[in-house]
Amino acid sequence: MVGVRIESFPTGPLACNCSIVMDEESKQAVVIDPGGDFPLIQEKLRLLGAEVCNIVHTHTHIDHVGATAPLQESSGAPARIHEEDRFLYEMLPVQAAMLGMPQPPTCEIHGDLFDEQAVNVGGLEVGVLHTPGHTPGSVSFVIDTPNGKVLFAGDTLFRRSIGRTDLWGGDHPLILRSISERLLTLDGDTRVITGHGPETTVGEEIAQNPFVGGR
Ligand SMILES: [Zn+2]
Ligand SMILES: [Zn+2]
Repeated sequence: MVGVRIESFPTGPLACNCSIVMDEESKQAVVIDPGGDFPLIQEKLRLLGAEVCNIVHTHTHIDHVGATAPLQESSGAPARIHEEDRFLYEMLPVQAAMLGMPQPPTCEIHGDLFDEQAVNVGGLEVGVLHTPGHTPGSVSFVIDTPNGKVLFAGDTLFRRSIGRTDLWGGDHPLILRSISERLLTLDGDTRVITGHGPETTVGEEIAQNPFVGGR
């Protein structure tokens, strides 16, 4: 198993957690949810010596795609979402107006993430799980590291909470099903990096997340 370096840090006005996942040997990296603060992302990449070969998104709310276009332009890497979220990319002006945020620059987006896919990043495989509910095209990413599995849950699962479902295409029963059937079935010691706020583990959320049966 290849060594993996993970850097997660909040970006943009809504503090979306952006993650850089790098194969330590080849230095090839995927950026998950470049939500904003492009100069900060650039600096982290430079310090790691990372070469971005994929840009992927857990979903397509404006706070998760704010720095996608400049990152795509500077790296030449494809920017990818699940096709069922494409309508959200096309309505970024509406999202910006609703949140009173400036509209971010846009770029070509590939709607080619799909369930059970493995996205290759150097010697690393990033697994894709379609976990709809927060948005129709919400996905979670899973990687195997020498220290166990790591899940990037986007706004589907938070520490002791879950994603809102009152926005475009949100579906509360569906997010509950995605979480219980696709995420909480992972190993209990799986580290969970969430879309906003602190990280957690699958086991902790099974025991303590009040939205999915914990206390
Ligand atoms: Zn969201
Ligand atoms: Zn978010």
